[in-house]
Amino acid sequence: MDDEVRRAIRGIALQNAYEHDGKTRNDAVISKLLGSRPDLRSKVKEIIPVISEIISDVNKCSISKQKAELESSYPELLVTKPKDERIGLPPLEGVEYGKMVTRFPPEPNGYPHIGHAKAAIIDEEYAKMYGGKMILRFDDTNPENERLEYYAAIKVGLDWLGVKYDRVKNTSDDIELIYKKGLQMIELDSAYVCTCKQETTSRNRREMKSCKCRSGDVEQNTKRWHNMFEKYKSGEAIVRFRGDMQSENTVMRDPSLFRIVEGNHPILLNKYRVWPNYDFAVAIEDSIDGVTHAFRTKEYELRNELYYSILDKLGMRKPKVLEFSRLEFAGMPVSKRILKPLVESGQVSGYDDPRLPTLEALRRRGIVPEAIRKFALSLSFTKSDTLAPFDALESFNRKIIDPTSLRLFMVTDPVKLIVKNNNLPSVELPNHPQKDLGKRKIELDENFYISGDDTKSLRVGDQIRLIELYNVKITKVGSVIEAECVDENFKTDLPKIQWVPQKNVVRLNILIPKTLFENEKFNENSLQTLQGITEGYYLELNEGTEIQFVRFGYCRKDSAIQAIYTHK
Ligand code: ATP
Ligand code: MG
Repeated sequence: MDDEVRRAIRGIALQNAYEHDGKTRNDAVISKLLGSRPDLRSKVKEIIPVISEIISDVNKCSISKQKAELESSYPELLVTKPKDERIGLPPLEGVEYGKMVTRFPPEPNGYPHIGHAKAAIIDEEYAKMYGGKMILRFDDTNPENERLEYYAAIKVGLDWLGVKYDRVKNTSDDIELIYKKGLQMIELDSAYVCTCKQETTSRNRREMKSCKCRSGDVEQNTKRWHNMFEKYKSGEAIVRFRGDMQSENTVMRDPSLFRIVEGNHPILLNKYRVWPNYDFAVAIEDSIDGVTHAFRTKEYELRNELYYSILDKLGMRKPKVLEFSRLEFAGMPVSKRILKPLVESGQVSGYDDPRLPTLEALRRRGIVPEAIRKFALSLSFTKSDTLAPFDALESFNRKIIDPTSLRLFMVTDPVKLIVKNNNLPSVELPNHPQKDLGKRKIELDENFYISGDDTKSLRVGDQIRLIELYNVKITKVGSVIEAECVDENFKTDLPKIQWVPQKNVVRLNILIPKTLFENEKFNENSLQTLQGITEGYYLELNEGTEIQFVRFGYCRKDSAIQAIYTHK
């Protein structure tokens, strides 16, 4: 065995031990070694004893010794997995490196929001952490609610977020296979067709009562199953899991596995009318897709028993289901169910209305994908329901956008200022105080605008500094203010105010998103509009440029006449 291979093994063993409380294991080291060195696959037999020897040696060292050796001999292994990338995503038990498969299963029934981002990022990051794969699976088995537009919007959203998946598929691709499994359930007498009225079924489930359909035999159920495809109408028959009508877990009281839905599916049109319910489709799909870890939000927790029971009955491989909490903000609903009516009723202007937590809206508001990822990973991976602080997202965002945001002057509630003795024809100002983001030339004459707020306490004789320009002394106050430059030397103790020259000004609407709901009620004043005046340079910027209006805050250029307030 050559020294270079021994060295590689020792590095992997140390790294793995260091990350697992000081102890490493053969299988972990072997799979990692062969993952990075496929050329060694043919030599596994010779390598295994060497690995065992190295591992027993490494496991004898204390964690601090392991760390010291990593630092001195394998610094690159400490660098490749910075701890902070994993904030909130704890390591999982018993995962085999290179074997993990996760999936993100959105229903194409609306636009993606930051909650979906959290889920997709968790799926992606875990797959990445364990050298696995992630599947994007459109969970499209509710023809009434789904539209092609939404499949596309979800893909666009994930692309924008930079979430990469290894495979994309639709649950509806497997409809025939799902039927086969459905029929199998009936043949195993693990499911039956129920023709009771919906109200009766709901009442029976509440009152823990069985109906007469439950005692139907396999022959009757098989016949009825076939009738679901032709004879019965929507609502006249469903397939039910033979669970336990007395179960404490209400989900297990013979839940529906298939129902009839008339109407067009976005892809399969009207070819099929029998559709699996969520619980059946998701269990079958996860199992056949090779999913090893199925992450979903906590509200599905009671459904786990059903998920596993279905797969048990069918003798199918069972993934591990793991839950995390739903992402919710105070006053900002992170749920398609609530967002959709807001858009459809016209209470907000569309899915990109800056008040919403949809990805389109966040993008338009100036939140960048990297901030969303950092934010999602910073939320601890727990099931506890806590409202996430929106300002934590803002603070990640601020750090990222600050170095690339142009500084421009903008004044609100403008008041005219005349500087009688201005003799500068123009000034050239840097677009950022530290970074090289270019310069802009501002044409000047004696006419300026300053913010109304800054004029309130001005008295004749006061001195102020026009930022980046000069100091002036007020000679007249009123609806128009007059002043004269006093000297060119910068005095630090003067109040500094921003200004805009009257030449080439741009009048702007600035949209300021506020809390959407207050005490559960739609806040009619959730979108404020401010009139502002900014420099002509604004027109030269591309739409989407992030600007920090001096002494105001970060805004994203939305159009030639409109900007959206990102945050302080
Ligand atoms: P809703 O329709 O209320 O937005 P959903 O769960 O019906 O939510 P799906 O498209 O079915 O939406 O969800 C796809 C995945 O995204 C699921 O795993 C779900 O758990 C997750 N998800 C949805 N909303 C959130 C949220 N607010 N926070 C975290 N994960 C979410
Ligand atoms: Mg759903």
